[in-house]
Amino acid sequence: MGLDPARVVANLERLRAETGDESGAQRVAWTETWARGRAILADALAGLPVEHERDEAGNDWFTLRGASKRAVLIGGHMDSVPNGGWLDGCLNCLAGAEVVRRLAEEGTPPVTVRLVDWADEEGARYGRSLLGSSAACGSMRDQAELRKLVDRDGVALPNALAAYGVDVDRMTDARRQLKSAAAYLELHIEQGPVLESLGLPLGPVLGTFGVERHRITWTGQAAHSGSTPMAQRRDALAGAAKLALAIREIAAQVGGGAVCTSGNVVCKPGIVTSVVETAEQLLDQRHLDAGQLAELLRLAQEASRRFAEEERIDVAWDRVWGIEPIPFDETLIGLCDEAVREVAGTSHRLPSGPLHDAAEVARSGVPTVMLFVQSLRGLSHTRLEDTKVEHLELSVRALDRLADRTIAWVAGH
Ligand SMILES: [Zn+2]
Repeated sequence: MGLDPARVVANLERLRAETGDESGAQRVAWTETWARGRAILADALAGLPVEHERDEAGNDWFTLRGASKRAVLIGGHMDSVPNGGWLDGCLNCLAGAEVVRRLAEEGTPPVTVRLVDWADEEGARYGRSLLGSSAACGSMRDQAELRKLVDRDGVALPNALAAYGVDVDRMTDARRQLKSAAAYLELHIEQGPVLESLGLPLGPVLGTFGVERHRITWTGQAAHSGSTPMAQRRDALAGAAKLALAIREIAAQVGGGAVCTSGNVVCKPGIVTSVVETAEQLLDQRHLDAGQLAELLRLAQEASRRFAEEERIDVAWDRVWGIEPIPFDETLIGLCDEAVREVAGTSHRLPSGPLHDAAEVARSGVPTVMLFVQSLRGLSHTRLEDTKVEHLELSVRALDRLADRTIAWVAGH
């Protein structure tokens, strides 16, 4: 009886042994190993008064009925990237299963508690992340494109999903699953270096970053490297180079965790005997606050126009992709803070750089919070991904404390 965090670690070890190899976890969604991983999750809940259901989008739901139909959801994803880590996504599920076990053993909870294993969070096979959660949360709009996707072996997405009982045309029927949802909780490894650098095991997550992603094309004039005096050059790379450095100051100036990355510059003609005529630069800017994100972009665009003038070149901006910041629920962040302090003494709130299923749930209007546990060396999506066992166990305890607080909060309003 009672919560047993060591059982979660044992289940993670079992999962690693049965669904991984020397290169790492191999639970790519819509494969046999993934299905085996999902069976191990179901096994962790065997013998409990928990109903198992697979929805139209392939998400697995485990429901412990409470006195009220209003439900506290705990989520994660059993799928992994190829050669993935042993914790990403499955820690959330197996820790959630342990919390559900503890609650079930104590009798009927005041509200319903549901564990969800989202289908295909990683998008490793078809390049479409958050597939199951976006279908259930109502943001999926790309069914027409999904029908055309083909994997590396030529298998079309609708066929791969059909093998697991999922019909692309009916995926969004999974929306009904969220009707009774009153709160959503997700534990996850941080996948970054912040908690480790602070020497802290756990932290509540404030939300997921908004992203502005742009392609910036600088246009100058190709000219001979030998015969063109320095003062007469119109060097496209000079603009890109100045901007690549300026975004550091812009990030510092805006602050609040702002990050800016110039991820690539492609130069043409790209030979040593010519001044660069065009430089195509990729810029990624992220912030948790929509206004500050817009400010990051405005400052970078303003700087680029100044550099274009200085270098007598042209600059053009193209938006490649973007997403608004998704803040988590203030009350649940507070409850998560309390839970972390209770089990670890100190708490540190931090934003999430990567997107998670939790972002889809939050976007659909369900109060949501995530809990991060420290990642060693900040590594993830590699077999080197790791977290100290003592921290894994603490994270299970914190999720358990958070679940109790959330159940009481939902029952009380
Ligand atoms: Zn994950």
